[in-house]
Amino acid sequence: MIAKVEPLTPARALRGPFDYLLGDELAGVGVGSMLVVPFGHRRLLGVVVDLAGSSDVPAERLVEPLSALEADVPETLVRLGLWVAAEYVSTPARGLALVLPPGTGTGAGRPLRPRRSLRAALTDEGRAATDARLGERQRAVLDALAAGAMSASVVVRLAGADHSTLRSLERRGLVRLEQATEAPRRPRIEGVGARRGGVEPTAAQRAALERIVERIDAPAGKPLLLHGVTGSGKTEVYLRSVAAALERGRSAIVLVPEIALTPQTAGRFVERFGDAVAIMHSQLSARERYDEWWRMRRGEARVCVGPRSAVFAPFDDLGLIVVDEEHDSSYKQEGDPRYDARVVAERRAELEGALLLAGSATPRPESQVRYERLELRERVDGRGLPPVEVVGMAGVAGPLHERTRQELDGVRRRGEKAIVLLNRRGWSNFLSCRLCGHVWECPDCDVTLVLHQAAGELACHHCGHRGRVPSECPDCGSVSVARHGAGTEQLERELEQVVAPLPVFRLDSDVAASSGIAGVLRAFEAAEAGVLVGTQMVAKGHDFPDVTLGVVLDADATLRFPDFRAEERTFALVAQLAGRSGRGERGGRVIVQALEPQARALCHAAGHDASGFLADELPRRQAFAYPPYGHLIRVVCSSTEAGPEHEAATAVRELIEAAGVPVLGPAPLFRRQARHRAQLVVRSRERAPAIVAVRAAVESVAADRRHGAAAFAVDVDPQ
Ligand code: ADP
Ligand code: ZN
Ligand code: ZN
Repeated sequence: MIAKVEPLTPARALRGPFDYLLGDELAGVGVGSMLVVPFGHRRLLGVVVDLAGSSDVPAERLVEPLSALEADVPETLVRLGLWVAAEYVSTPARGLALVLPPGTGTGAGRPLRPRRSLRAALTDEGRAATDARLGERQRAVLDALAAGAMSASVVVRLAGADHSTLRSLERRGLVRLEQATEAPRRPRIEGVGARRGGVEPTAAQRAALERIVERIDAPAGKPLLLHGVTGSGKTEVYLRSVAAALERGRSAIVLVPEIALTPQTAGRFVERFGDAVAIMHSQLSARERYDEWWRMRRGEARVCVGPRSAVFAPFDDLGLIVVDEEHDSSYKQEGDPRYDARVVAERRAELEGALLLAGSATPRPESQVRYERLELRERVDGRGLPPVEVVGMAGVAGPLHERTRQELDGVRRRGEKAIVLLNRRGWSNFLSCRLCGHVWECPDCDVTLVLHQAAGELACHHCGHRGRVPSECPDCGSVSVARHGAGTEQLERELEQVVAPLPVFRLDSDVAASSGIAGVLRAFEAAEAGVLVGTQMVAKGHDFPDVTLGVVLDADATLRFPDFRAEERTFALVAQLAGRSGRGERGGRVIVQALEPQARALCHAAGHDASGFLADELPRRQAFAYPPYGHLIRVVCSSTEAGPEHEAATAVRELIEAAGVPVLGPAPLFRRQARHRAQLVVRSRERAPAIVAVRAAVESVAADRRHGAAAFAVDVDPQ
């Protein structure tokens, strides 16, 4: 038998699969097995992607693998990994790395093995030994073990001995050594506001569930879209759908935007399904990740809850994939392969005959057009959605409108809670010299630096560059420095004055890095009253029933970006924030501050009118062949010197055009991380030919030595 093996090497040039001869002792090897294979003078880790009866390689040159690893992945996942590699113009090794046990990577590091550790304990003889013939270190080992059995590496360290000391004590019958598999590490999940106890589903929930269960039983047709207003009880529908899949002996995946931000949702799954749930999130150690992977692979865990990478959970009996908050941008991976977990989920569901169920209060146009819709039109408690007031900021001094101040004052007087969103962190957007106009910019990117007052630094939000807060202008020596624009840090101060003595809690990625998101959310929940202020993090699916006021500052800032999704983003952000308010008995309201209060996206958001927004948006998308009616592919060429990036982009453009695929550019992008960049955009109604043309063009130009100074990044379905 011949195994076709794709080597897990980061090298783009080394492209398998390569043939290896399977001897008798590797008879159990199949598609998805991981093998160590000889490759020239090296040994490489590889994955079997196919089996064949014969090979084109001459018999005398066929070699056998060196060994097979214990871990393997289901065949469908091998197919999925290779599909991702092709669809997102990456390499097979990178696509496969997504579906392999965590820590396997592209074979650069050593894969983790199930943890087995050597434990040492005293035997009865050892306990009685007072033998003068014991060496000093041997004595020290026995003394240390008198406290009880412990791991061999620990006792060796305590006694200042080494493993040969232990082995010789074992030979003399004084110490017993045994291999023990350590219990898998289970990640802890911090519940914020998770509510216990089952509920009786509402009529709307029941109707949705009926359709979902029907489709789990007979998977056919399109994915389902659960379009439910905020607070309509979508999570309860997911929980019961997962239960239905489990009852039918199938596994389920639940994708969530980011667990740290929405611990409530993950908490509800753990509450409902206990140990059957494996949680994957970014704060897990490599070991925890690996152990969870094995619990799923062995079938001990049947539900995987996690962010985008959970779409690759190693189940081989998948019945259901849920995508919660399907509009969330975190489903797109930023590094290569730049996959979109929602698209991968569609593909996987199709490959495995599972049902895809996506849900949101603000679904993407893509899923509204292409999926079959289920609706939850009302909040579970029959309470209305909060009234939204849009106020114009033209001519207003300071960050807060008079109406906002009034409402915040009401929250203060009544001792209630408010959430305030400003999608800009830091203290001030940028600094300039009052005398000569010098603007402080990042040395590596063509963008202004943001003032972070608490940390006492200027930071670049694109590359992480940090510098000290300037006391004088480097150009003219003036000490008069102007600060422009307010970020969350400054707003926090402002709000403290408005609502004192109520506490103000800030949530943005600066706080997340220092004190942790869960800590802030828990503090806000535990407080009697107060204000939560922050970036779009505060608009995620939090369920705090006692929030009575939501405020969005500079709501049309997103509209000022030249991006076809600007309207969609603005609408979703405002509608989602509005969804955090008025979930309890006291009801609630929302104030939206904007420079242009008449903006279409804001008016629809104020009316909680997702369908109206869509009806406006779709014709525009249709006319310009934007998603969901067309497909975008972005190619970014970059180089450290100015010039090569533009030449490379021009060369790629010519090849794409020659293939008959429409392409725009090259257009310069701002310099980032010390690299000059040029961008091409392919917009095509046909997907597959566009991807094929872009891949061929980029591979050809990348292999051309004349463009050796340029690097290439391809993004299919950029967000
Ligand atoms: P969504 O995700 O649609 O915004 P959630 O799933 O967070 O809504 O539900 C909002 C609240 O309603 C939660 O606290 C949830 O426990 C509660 N809930 C859901 N379904 C029911 C029900 N059938 N009866 C009573 N309460 C419910
Ligand atoms: Zn100056
Ligand atoms: Zn920078």
